[in-house]
Amino acid sequence: MQIDDIVVSRAIITRYTQDLLSALESDVAVVGGGPAGLTAACYLARGGLRTVLFESKLSVGGGMWGGGMMFNQIVVQEEARPILDDLGIRYEVFQEGYYTAHSVEAVAALILGAVRSGAKIFNLICAEDVMVREGRITGLVLNWKAVEMANLHVDPLAVSSRYVIDATGHDAQVTSIVVRKLKAAIRTASGSLEGEKSMWAERGEEAILENTGEVYPGLYVAGMTANAVCGGHRMGPIFGGMLLSGKKVAELILAEEKKK
Ligand SMILES: Cc1cc2nc3c(=O)[nH]c(=O)nc-3n(C[C@H](O)[C@H](O)[C@H](O)COP(=O)(O)OP(=O)(O)OC[C@H]3O[C@@H](n4cnc5c(N)ncnc54)[C@H](O)[C@@H]3O)c2cc1C
Repeated sequence: MQIDDIVVSRAIITRYTQDLLSALESDVAVVGGGPAGLTAACYLARGGLRTVLFESKLSVGGGMWGGGMMFNQIVVQEEARPILDDLGIRYEVFQEGYYTAHSVEAVAALILGAVRSGAKIFNLICAEDVMVREGRITGLVLNWKAVEMANLHVDPLAVSSRYVIDATGHDAQVTSIVVRKLKAAIRTASGSLEGEKSMWAERGEEAILENTGEVYPGLYVAGMTANAVCGGHRMGPIFGGMLLSGKKVAELILAEEKKK
């Protein structure tokens, strides 16, 4: 068979454009493709919501690839083991209640889980602002990460979404924008960003689930962002909390939908 270069180009442009157009109006927009965002996207799409995920880097997976200090193994506690089973991530018992998995396999399974459930993943796209209408977050303002890196003077585009999840990790980028630009109180003890506390795995892992939830109408936080926004401890390379937080935020939004 002869390969026509132009057909190849047309196929890529057509398919990508179709995907991007379908992402213009979604039920849930997840910002950040780390373990929390990917898990959330997987369960939301499984629950039947039109889910899109925007990741600024070339690769999704966030901080999971490197395990702890580039030792590419992750540790997961008992409570999160059902998620490993559900997503087909193989693991070994290290000692009672502690399981290890290969970080690369874990990321690969999370990505496949999200995509096969129907979530649309867009990499290389950065959320740089939010849309707000009548006191509720109604969407995101997006641009290519390369545009931001090159400091090019190029206007962004907007997408609408009924729910936005900030899963951008330590930087809590979307929530920071909301606090800075809207100057409105968010649902934390001080009404503003609390900032994350120093390392304490047990407390951090407990807090991350309590802190996962809606912090402003239409805006939810998950993963490391939840602790950064609400003042929880950081917890080192134990990833169960990230998976559980991603699942919990999906369940909260699905429960919200059921009320309608
Ligand atoms: C400096 C540092 C310290 C760490 N400390 C801890 C720790 O204390 N405890 C711990 O458990 N883990 C820590 N980690 C490891 C790891 O980041 C997290 O555990 C885990 O990956 C967090 O998962 P997450 O899904 O919440 O966020 P992440 O894995 O960080 O994923 C967030 C994703 O969001 C993307 N993103 C960010 N902003 C935007 C945007 N505006 N638009 C689109 N995408 C965006 C990022 O590129 C990234 O892929 C640390 C990592 C770093 C780099």
